[in-house]
Amino acid sequence: MPRQHGDWWYYSGVIHVHTTESDGTKTLEEVAKIGEDCGCDFLLFADHMTLSNREAGKEGYHGRCLVLIGYEHNDVEDKNHFLVFDSPGVYPNEMNAYEYVAAARRDGALGIMAHPDEVRDRMAQYPPYEWTDWSNDDVDGIELWNQMSEWMERLTKANRVVMIWSPRKSMYGPTERVFRKWDELNLQRKCVGIASADAHAFPVGLGPFTFRIFPYKTHFRTLRTHLILPEPLSTDLEVARRQVYGALRDCRAFGSNIRWGDADAFEFYATGSSSKAMIGGQLDEVDNTHLHIRLADPADLKLVGNGRTILETTSDHLDFAVEHPGIYRVEAWKKGRCWIFSNHIRIGSRSEIDSWMKAHENRSS
Ligand SMILES: [Zn+2]
Ligand SMILES: [Zn+2]
Repeated sequence: MPRQHGDWWYYSGVIHVHTTESDGTKTLEEVAKIGEDCGCDFLLFADHMTLSNREAGKEGYHGRCLVLIGYEHNDVEDKNHFLVFDSPGVYPNEMNAYEYVAAARRDGALGIMAHPDEVRDRMAQYPPYEWTDWSNDDVDGIELWNQMSEWMERLTKANRVVMIWSPRKSMYGPTERVFRKWDELNLQRKCVGIASADAHAFPVGLGPFTFRIFPYKTHFRTLRTHLILPEPLSTDLEVARRQVYGALRDCRAFGSNIRWGDADAFEFYATGSSSKAMIGGQLDEVDNTHLHIRLADPADLKLVGNGRTILETTSDHLDFAVEHPGIYRVEAWKKGRCWIFSNHIRIGSRSEIDSWMKAHENRSS
């Protein structure tokens, strides 16, 4: 269910969901029903290399849940997985990663790097599917946190039983490495950071038993991406599609693990002497500008400015007087596990931020 904060509407849903059209284990209709039962306002499906569900006319409301359909592209070596929404079709298989990133840009599609920082090497049967070249970064977004990847990253022969028995305990949060890359990119331009499920509901064998780690239901009750809209989500599919993709392009989003608390109550905004900016927004003035954070429960809060931690505290709220131009974002953690991470709010003009960065380059940690 959406939540209204002031003039804004907050929706939460799940991005990156597979169906039987590729290697998922349920049909889109079955998955959409589970999504609706779990309270997802939207589901963004992305099967491997196919838009068959979209072509079959399955986008639209399934009950109260809005279903939008893109696909997941990969290169011939099965690396550089890339979520593509709003594209005219599936790009040719033989394109390399530069080519399909450029094609998505050219077509005005919405392209998101999928699980870019997989680095696992502990179990030969589960190779990493990483983003091989970070200079190939002309993308609209990055999966900062991918539930399936994180689980696989932490899987070892020794912890296998525990990991399969209670998979959600394996969820910690995005890595510092991927946060840093994302901050760097956002100092150049907007690039949305999302949490995603990568839901397949794979069966995994353990001795004589087969477990379904992360049934769809478990995914939908864990990592969410929240979108902030200036108006309620339309009942008209065309309009709703533009609202969702528009919010992602505009970085009006935050990610959460809803298992750790009511993330819909989270607010992060900036106020100037006469204006206000939400996540994804910008305020030109630096003096007299404050950042405000509101949470349902106390958490370990981290305020990050221009890629550097500028304040850490434990609280359910924070009001902070901005001291310099920059891009600001928030992380909220509980007992060492990430609960919420926001996208950035920009304070000051682009050139002011650039000159501040230049002046402080040599003092970086
Ligand atoms: Zn993938
Ligand atoms: Zn996937």
